[in-house]
Amino acid sequence: MAKNLTPRAEDYSKWYNELVIKADLAENSGVRGCMVIKPYGYAIWERMQAELDRMFKETGHQNAYFPLFIPKSYFSKEASHVDGFAKECAVVTHYRLKNAEDGSGIVVDPEAKLEEELIVRPTSETIIWDTYRKWIQSYRDLPLLINQWANVVRWEMRTRLFLRTAEFLWQEGHTAHATKDEAVAEAEQMMNVYADFVENFMAIPVVKGTKTESERFAGALETYCIEALMQDGKALQAGTSHFLGQNFAKAFDVKFTSKEGKLDYVWATSWGVSTRLMGALVMTHSDDNGLVLPPNLAPDQLVIVPIYRNEEEFDGVDAIAKNLMKQLRSKGVRVKYDNRDTQKPGWKFNEYELKGVPLRIAIGPKDVEKGTVELARRDTFQKEFISHDKVVNTVESLLGEIQENLYKKAISHRIENTSEVTSYDEFKKVLDTKGGFILAHWDGTSATEEMVKNDTKATIRCIPLDGDTQPGTCIFTGKPSQRKVLFARAY
Ligand code: AMP
Repeated sequence: MAKNLTPRAEDYSKWYNELVIKADLAENSGVRGCMVIKPYGYAIWERMQAELDRMFKETGHQNAYFPLFIPKSYFSKEASHVDGFAKECAVVTHYRLKNAEDGSGIVVDPEAKLEEELIVRPTSETIIWDTYRKWIQSYRDLPLLINQWANVVRWEMRTRLFLRTAEFLWQEGHTAHATKDEAVAEAEQMMNVYADFVENFMAIPVVKGTKTESERFAGALETYCIEALMQDGKALQAGTSHFLGQNFAKAFDVKFTSKEGKLDYVWATSWGVSTRLMGALVMTHSDDNGLVLPPNLAPDQLVIVPIYRNEEEFDGVDAIAKNLMKQLRSKGVRVKYDNRDTQKPGWKFNEYELKGVPLRIAIGPKDVEKGTVELARRDTFQKEFISHDKVVNTVESLLGEIQENLYKKAISHRIENTSEVTSYDEFKKVLDTKGGFILAHWDGTSATEEMVKNDTKATIRCIPLDGDTQPGTCIFTGKPSQRKVLFARAY
């Protein structure tokens, strides 16, 4: 059925924007670069939050909340941090409005100027480390393992729904440790938690790695990341975890007394994933008919649509639908029964296809007679008739199968679209013909990375943690290279 979506092959970016809007995930707002997340999109985000929150708590973290505003003086305490974020900060300068004297409307009251300007948090390291100074005195106070669910603002110039917005929702973990090794282990652990979540829950395969110096988070000594490959051959950074060394402890004077009675600065990490994951979800699994949701993420895993012409037919269908819904819910399946009589079945089929509901059951008068239902899969469009007593088992096993199938499809796409090249000509050719991930040798310098970026728009997505570690020669300069790194054009 026509979904009126621009096909991906025609214009991928247009397809993406149309899908986000038509599937009711989000829309643009009156505020430049800021989106409205609609109830259906928010329900998916809540599923992500719930699972991540569970995983954070299982690894010993607790939630807390810190202020939205950061005094400018805090912000400037860590030099490289301020350098990295200065260009995209929203700043509060006044705290009051007043009626204009000439009656032309409301204006900022110049007399209500803040003594110290406030930054709307683009990330919370500074305010959190200013607080940690009061919380940490001895080794007994460590490790401190805190997460915050919040919104942040980065004044991005080129924005796209979910992928890059000026305000976005995220979680930010901020931990404090007694030793360097412990902090590094924490940063690695959280990269692994993210990879586990994105692969097993979202069915999106990722490459784990570290960022090069120029792509590192402002103020970090090491940035670990997970990188995913979208259907159009562009990469997306899906999550980051930073080892911050003692930079923030030094900037905010956070010291602790060790077991041996020695005074030392605390070691830190921070890590985050954002509503960008919604973009990754759309761009990994969806098709020209709309959203395709992995069952783990789907707010409704199955929808039941009744088909009838009159009240009598409805009564027969309705009884079966309600009974099946009860059985499925008792097994933990998230079921929606769409018995609205304001929409036709065809309209409903279309709607749930567009919204990516993994399974659909249709029940009509013939099914009542035969004791069957029609069960349809969103990922493969396969349909089958099954008897009522088989519904629960079939649905349970199909949900698992769909989750697995989506992951398999995504990983085969990534394998097909990962190339290894040995020359710069080959590198450029692959980029322009198929895109995707490209493994190539690099001499380890920011200068070379910058030249390749300026020339091709491809960046080093990460230095992968696994895989080929054979030394070789840089494709750009011919200088020695320690190992191949992962290049791609990215969102
Ligand atoms: P960072 O603090 O820069 O390491 O980013 C933390 C997480 O937020 C990463 O997963 C980024 O991909 C994501 N992120 C960064 N900037 C944006 C943005 N403008 N919109 C949505 N997500 C973002």
